[in-house]
Parts: sequence; structure tokens; C-alpha cells
Amino acid sequence: MTTTRRSFLTASGGLAAGAMAGALTASAAAAAPQGTVIEHSLIPLPYAFDALEPVIDAETLETHYTRHHAAYVNGLNATERALAEARAADDMSQIQSLSRQYAFHGAGHYLHVLYWSVMAPPGNGGGGDPAGLLAGQIAKDFGSIEAFKTQFSAASISVEANGWCALHYRPADDRLLVLQIENHQNLTPWDVIPLMVIDVWEHAYYLKYQNRRGDYVEAWWDVVNWPRVSANLEAARE
Ligand code: MN
Repeated sequence: MTTTRRSFLTASGGLAAGAMAGALTASAAAAAPQGTVIEHSLIPLPYAFDALEPVIDAETLETHYTRHHAAYVNGLNATERALAEARAADDMSQIQSLSRQYAFHGAGHYLHVLYWSVMAPPGNGGGGDPAGLLAGQIAKDFGSIEAFKTQFSAASISVEANGWCALHYRPADDRLLVLQIENHQNLTPWDVIPLMVIDVWEHAYYLKYQNRRGDYVEAWWDVVNWPRVSANLEAARE
């Protein structure tokens, strides 16, 4: 890694605790007749590309962030521009395709921001076990930390094709739940707030683990930033 790149990654401090909403805030341009068009951007990572070694190798992290995540940001921007142009032209002939792209790229951007934010270097913010409020809530809703990890790992490993596994909080009944996500936007129940996600698209692990998704999932526990996940729960319960 070059000094320049490392400086870039740490220049603005990355993602501070509780900054998810701010991290996803895009800059607004002046309102136009077709509505305000905003420009989403790739936010700085809160660590260097090699910071999650050996769980996630530097090449995978750099490619994942600079190419895959960036593609969703670009796709989201392109979709919003196309929608604005469609409104300006009073032409809704492509609305079904644009709606699908909007969900795919928008969810792709959001989930990657959450994924980067809930990881930290192993032994230096990453790994160990949840504590405090989060530990109590997991024990209440899953029986034990181990039972939760078993369910989350099994769900992660068995996502069909490309997708994610998420720990969500459901405000309606004050409950945590684990759900699979296909692509970025499918199997979504809507009445939940995501607290933690693991990316199980092949691009997240294939260079190092090849087809052994299970090895990646088991190793991933060593980079989970539990204090951050706990802060997400506290924010969700407010
Ligand atoms: Mn990804």
C-alpha cells in the first residue's frame, strides 16, 4: 500500500460511531424542475486496506471497496439522474427497470457502508464477544451468544448465490432477528433496522478462500466490531 493511499483512508477519520446516517448523506445540488438530484460518494474507509489481515486480505479489501462498492455508488447516481431525466421528459417508459436498479444499487451502497463500519482489525477493536446491552439482548432473543453465532454463521453460509446475512433489530416487539439477503435488496421484511451485516458475495472472499465460504464466515467473527454493533442497537432503540 502506498503512503498516499493510507493517508487518504485515514484522512477524515473514517466512520465514527453512530455516523451511519451522516455517512450516507449525499451532497445536494440546486433544485431543478425535475427535482433535486444528489450525488452519492464513496466514503473513506475507517482503516487501511491491510488492516483486516489475515481474515480479509488487502487485495480483496481494496478491490471490493474501490471497484465493487464504487460500482454501486455510480449505479445509484446514474439511476437517480435517469429518473430525473425521465421526469423532465415526462417519460415513464423505463420506470420498471429504473425502479429495480434503484433498489439494487441503493441497497448495495447502504449495505457496504454498514459492512465496512462493523469491522475492525482483529485483536484491535475486532473480535471477542458482545457486551452490555447487546449481549443481554442477544441472550434474550437467541438463548446465548453461542446460539446466536451458530444461527448467524449457518444463515450466512447458506445464502443462495450472491447475498448477505444481517442481524436486525425490530422495534415493534423489541427483538433481534437474523435474516438472509439475496443480492442486496431481496428477502427484506421492511420493519427492521439492520445492525450488522456480512457480505457473502464471492467478491468478498474468493481471492483468499476460493469456494470455502464457511471458512470466511468462521474467520469473520475475528473482525466483528462489537462496540459498533452495540452502538447501532442503542441508536435503533431510541
Ligand atoms: Mn460486496
